[in-house]
Amino acid sequence: MPPMETDLLRRYLEFYQDLGVKTLYRQAPQAVTKAAPAPAPAPVSPTPMPTAPALPPLEPAGDALPRILEDIGDCRRCRLHEGRNKLVFGVGNAESPVVFVGEGPGADEDAQGIPFVGRAGQLLTQMIEGTARKEGIVLRRDDVYICNVVKCRPPGNRTPEPDEMEICGQFLARQLSAIHPKAICALGGTAARALTGHKEGVTKMRGKWLQWREIPVMVTYHPSYLLRPYNEHAKREAWEDLKKLLHFVYD
Ligand code: URA
Repeated sequence: MPPMETDLLRRYLEFYQDLGVKTLYRQAPQAVTKAAPAPAPAPVSPTPMPTAPALPPLEPAGDALPRILEDIGDCRRCRLHEGRNKLVFGVGNAESPVVFVGEGPGADEDAQGIPFVGRAGQLLTQMIEGTARKEGIVLRRDDVYICNVVKCRPPGNRTPEPDEMEICGQFLARQLSAIHPKAICALGGTAARALTGHKEGVTKMRGKWLQWREIPVMVTYHPSYLLRPYNEHAKREAWEDLKKLLHFVYD
């Protein structure tokens, strides 16, 4: 590939800097085969078309969860770091064929540094293990991978702001690329919208297969929503969504 013009390169770097990206990786140079003589230079066009070079990849080749965690470091890329006790990266099987993605840590998660350990987390564990058991699938919570769109607790458990999700989203994308699951489960509307780009509410999206890149995404209700009283119908729907997901992944 021809060297990128300095000015264009500077603009790309500024673009990534605005997104909060601190580290970019260079692709390893391709091995050059010396055998063939160089072809005659092509005639130079008098008015060369400006071609936009591909954006440098944010995900280094051979990326892995420990490296992503190291790159997050003591993250101060957005305002959420100000109120955090512990950064909540993710937990579980790094080779899981399914990844559950929530919205962001709550108080219990912030205290322990582990996603979904509070009441909603206990319900999520029951939902995963209970649905699997009923469907004859041998599966424990530890067998899957669980993480969130943002890694730090939003104050008062508010919904993460778009810029916070954008900045933290680079790490979620790297986690998902590194694990490369067969399917993803989006827990709640925020995770579903962040992953798929769809704008609808969760009741419209749930039970459907959407996509993150080429990976199927099953959307279901957030366990916190299911904990509210009078949500029996939604609970049954969430059970159906999980059944669909688990059969797709494990059959
Ligand atoms: N809610 C979330 O979205 N994530 C957690 O980790 C806990 C509660």
